[in-house]
Amino acid sequence: MVLSGPSGCGKGTVLKEFFARGGDAFLSVSATTRAPRPGEENGVHYYFLGREEFEEKLSGGEILEHACYCGNYYGTPRGPVYERLERGENVILEIEVQGGLQIREKCPEAVLVFVLPPSFAELRRRLIGRQTEDMETVSRRLEAARTEMQAAYDYDYVVVNDRVEDAVEELKAIFAAERIKTENRKNIIDEVLHYDA
Ligand code: ADP
Ligand code: 5GP
Repeated sequence: MVLSGPSGCGKGTVLKEFFARGGDAFLSVSATTRAPRPGEENGVHYYFLGREEFEEKLSGGEILEHACYCGNYYGTPRGPVYERLERGENVILEIEVQGGLQIREKCPEAVLVFVLPPSFAELRRRLIGRQTEDMETVSRRLEAARTEMQAAYDYDYVVVNDRVEDAVEELKAIFAAERIKTENRKNIIDEVLHYDA
């Protein structure tokens, strides 16, 4: 599952609550060249890399998708994602829209979920209220948000993060619906059709 949405819409908050309520998935840890925020740990929130290190990994084929967002590289390390998928686990990538669309090209079975804020004014309030970026960065992120939200039309699902609990329920509903899609139920159809008890 790809989860995208403009900075400050609440992706991190919704995911935290999803896991707190027993959500079962592997959350991919991205690599980035942006500086850590206070409290962010290397290997937990992100792998914090220098530009050269990031570019080496990129040319070595270690990055599944990547984008340049507000002047920094962000990318998904390939290895851990495929390890988990091969074990049959759900995998969530919390990434911006250029990356999301690259994933759709490379993995057509991916489900793309867009998280929208209830309004643009509320997005601004949340981004400023988080107090993790200076005003110049906030302005750049809000500018990027307009373009990013255009991509919502191309996603498979849209979750509006008005109340966090409702957004989490919707996310869980998406996982539940995807699990019972016909293409994920071929085994059970075969079994019922072809084997006698
Ligand atoms: P993102 O991960 O999308 O950049 P965050 O999860 O960091 O966004 O949320 C941005 C800010 O908005 C945080 O201060 C968070 O506490 C707040 N927030 C997130 N979801 C909601 C919500 N549903 N209602 C009110 N505030 C929210
Ligand atoms: P932040 O700096 O707020 O942590 O993230 C900025 C943006 O980069 C967010 O929209 C976030 O979803 C996105 N992002 C985080 N990791 C990745 C990644 O691995 N790939 C891509 N394409 N975007 C990412």
